[in-house]
Amino acid sequence: MISRKKELLTLMNVNNSWYKESNFEHCNSLTYDDLQLEATNCQECILSKSRNKVVFGQGDKKSKIFIIGEAPGKDEDLNGQPFIGRAGKLLTEILLSIKLKRSDVYITNTIKCRPPENRNPNSNEIASCSHFLDKEIDLIAPEVIILLGKVAAETVLNTSKPMADLRGKIHYYKNTKIPTLVFYHPAYLLRSPYEKRKVWEDILFMKREINVG
Ligand code: URA
Repeated sequence: MISRKKELLTLMNVNNSWYKESNFEHCNSLTYDDLQLEATNCQECILSKSRNKVVFGQGDKKSKIFIIGEAPGKDEDLNGQPFIGRAGKLLTEILLSIKLKRSDVYITNTIKCRPPENRNPNSNEIASCSHFLDKEIDLIAPEVIILLGKVAAETVLNTSKPMADLRGKIHYYKNTKIPTLVFYHPAYLLRSPYEKRKVWEDILFMKREINVG
């Protein structure tokens, strides 16, 4: 794809042979559908060899609320949709508890392909995928970002602090003013039912601090 910069140089009759396109030079004109197609064909990391389907984000592309999980699991990998397994059902219930339908929010993952046996994604896999997430956030332009669990929190906030330090605080996405909150991942809540009440703390914090939901 030819970038707008290179196009302008041509229009101005300036020799542009020296101008090197970077992979994302065309980002300004990239549409949501372009980005999704790019992800669908991505071969940038080893997960592309084992995946069944790339799992891109889903939901209301005009939503104020942008939710980021970890990585697709088995059901998601087979169907190509985020959060449709057990953890997804719990996420749907959590949203309904504050009168939000899945179609009211936008849901995506830190990485778009399933790691074998649902292992944690490694830093190389996260690094090769993170431009998709950044661009998704750019295009949706949400009013609040919710990070579900440690992988999303560590990646988006670029931190290694424990979950306990990150929950119940307002962070900001990169150098923007988009408030970003850290919630427990629904899969963790399924494994530790005793912790389920903590999701209420997370939701109440969001309702108290931010005018959405
Ligand atoms: N867990 C995630 O983080 N994402 C999914 O899509 C499903 C389970």
